[in-house]
Amino acid sequence: MHRIVVYGVVQGVGFRPTVYRVAKLLGLRGWVKNNGSNVEIVIDRDVESFLAELRKNLPVNARIERIDVSEYSGMSFDDFRILESSHGVKDFPPPPDLAMCDACLADFYEKGNRRYMYAFTNCTDCGARFTVIKNMPFDRINTTMFEFPMCRECNSEYEHPANRRFHAQTISCPECGPRYTLYDRNGTPVPVENPFEKFAVLIDAGKICVLKGYGGMHILCALDRIKYFRDWYRRKSKPFALMMRNLETVERYAYLSEIEREILLSRARPIVLLKKKAGFECLEDASPGLPNFGVMLPYAPVHHLIFQHLKSDGFVATSANVPGEPMIIENREAFALNADYYLLHNLKIHNRCDDSVLRVYSNRKFFIRKSRGFVPEALTIDAKGTVIAVGAQENLSASVLINGKIYTTQYLGDGLSYNVLQYMKGALSHYLRLFNVEHVDTICLDLHPGYTTRSVAFALAKKFNARTLEIQHHWAHAVSLFVDNSISNGVCIAIDGTGYGSDGKIWGGEVLNAGMKGFQRVGHLSEFPLIGGETAVNDIGRVAFAFAELTGNNLKREDDTLLRALMKKSVMCTSFGRVLDALSYVLGVCEERTYDGEPAMKLETLLMEGKPWVKMPDSLVECNGDEYVINVLPVFEKVFECRGSEKRADIAYAAVAAIVKNFVDVAIKSANEYGMKYIGVSGGVSYNDVIVSLFEKYVKQSGLTPLLHDRVPNGDMGISVGQCAIGAHDIECV
Ligand SMILES: [Zn+2]
Ligand SMILES: [Zn+2]
Repeated sequence: MHRIVVYGVVQGVGFRPTVYRVAKLLGLRGWVKNNGSNVEIVIDRDVESFLAELRKNLPVNARIERIDVSEYSGMSFDDFRILESSHGVKDFPPPPDLAMCDACLADFYEKGNRRYMYAFTNCTDCGARFTVIKNMPFDRINTTMFEFPMCRECNSEYEHPANRRFHAQTISCPECGPRYTLYDRNGTPVPVENPFEKFAVLIDAGKICVLKGYGGMHILCALDRIKYFRDWYRRKSKPFALMMRNLETVERYAYLSEIEREILLSRARPIVLLKKKAGFECLEDASPGLPNFGVMLPYAPVHHLIFQHLKSDGFVATSANVPGEPMIIENREAFALNADYYLLHNLKIHNRCDDSVLRVYSNRKFFIRKSRGFVPEALTIDAKGTVIAVGAQENLSASVLINGKIYTTQYLGDGLSYNVLQYMKGALSHYLRLFNVEHVDTICLDLHPGYTTRSVAFALAKKFNARTLEIQHHWAHAVSLFVDNSISNGVCIAIDGTGYGSDGKIWGGEVLNAGMKGFQRVGHLSEFPLIGGETAVNDIGRVAFAFAELTGNNLKREDDTLLRALMKKSVMCTSFGRVLDALSYVLGVCEERTYDGEPAMKLETLLMEGKPWVKMPDSLVECNGDEYVINVLPVFEKVFECRGSEKRADIAYAAVAAIVKNFVDVAIKSANEYGMKYIGVSGGVSYNDVIVSLFEKYVKQSGLTPLLHDRVPNGDMGISVGQCAIGAHDIECV
């Protein structure tokens, strides 16, 4: 007899049923079972041909990491069986949630099928996974579906090897499964024959509607009601994502590349930022002043049900939450939103999971939010030990390093909310339970003394009797990029809004020569005062005012006397994000920041139209001891000088291109000095298409290799990944 243990994502993907069918096909005797997070197989002969056949028939969502084969002398049978799961080692996660597969769609649209228009249709290839699982092994008893015992017919599908729902853990039908109910604003059920049809009619009629899905709730509103919706939701200009009927519909509204099409249709079904086509008022309403809008395709059966009855092309679908708070998952809490109607089901949401958001840059994915459809995902690094990292403060995620793999949580939100911190604790506990973690070596946190995530880190350190490690923000960005690209060191241009520097100042325009065990600040933007500290982050006119003062120009402000006084004692800052804010303000693109990244994102529209016709000073680089300083004042002098005589777009383009060129020049000097092959870019500013393409062009001209993100978010959601890797290498040093 032979014992085969398969490691990887092999549960919740129809792996055991496939093993069963292959064994039967080859006439083998033995058994298969889930053991911990792995699958254990015993067969009596023909290991080679069995494995070959298994690989040929591998379920679409399975991912084999390793296979161990050994001799076996335990129990066997005269036939082949699927046995009860056992609780062995847990070292691989369940799969992420998977969009409805074609076979299930066929069931769903087939009149007379048991699951015709059934809102919880799924199979071994599709459906909720991460959001419904409580623990491994991935058996119904460990999911929220356990509260819905299978009816006789579902059970017979489950037990019949020829059925494609053979051993599918989360199946149900209208007879035995969860169900949707339509409620009015008071929480009273609305008596209708078809709640989905009514719900679609209500959306078309302009009502504000809330829909509960697998991993959370969305607020929906018609495309021609977005202005009203903004008032209602008190969200002045932050973009809303849309859900559209199908790919053909999206093509009418947006320009798409082949890879964008592919990602829109992928099993993860994320929100993809796409370039707007002209002439659609709803797109301007959805993302005012921006060249892109976010859109996703239906992924759960309930979405298809709504589109079955909806007249319009799509609707706004935004996470349902009180601003700043985590997405709502409890039915009773939803009614506090004061929407007009609610379509809610009675299945519990175990793991909240917001939609993922990404934009495509050439063939790379820039994750703005990596969540539903992508978590949990393993990033392999060459390190031992167990590390937890709590990230920074905004756009939070936390990460856990176990057995050389980093697992990052779903998107958590902004750390200013107590509930977001609680959410982080819960999300981390879930991972620790999934992997049976009892010992933790190090807890990593940001260097910033004011970040609320510190409290989570210190509480965890106490609980596990682990050491804590404070990590500089931009170093974590750089390392997150290295992990993303499976390398261990390089030169990284880390550009973002705010990060606490090792010198107590605010950094954000940094060139770092970095590795896993340390970093050197090779260069940075010249320092400027952040007038009034954090206030200047939203009141971007303050940063512009500072640059006007420093270059002998005039920027009218009623509070100029106060600002001048404050300027002398303000914290100094080297943030590229703030420089872009100031440019945006001076060029009249944006006057205040009402959401994260707004001024810089609006500037991007202008940058896309810009031509390199305004001459900027050649070199901005100055030497200051062992650091290079990129002086931005000559750029602002030029900007103030040309304002009014040159096109705004051309001024913006020239200013940004000059700064990026000088960043790359400094990076090249450092790379050559230390014999580094790679120059990378990370941080929130690196989402900017124009900035990244300029970066890439300049690096390639030098013959070095540009490094970009693809799996780890460029922005602060990626910080915990970098922290984890640094924490792991720190253990080796102890
Ligand atoms: Zn399916
Ligand atoms: Zn049933």
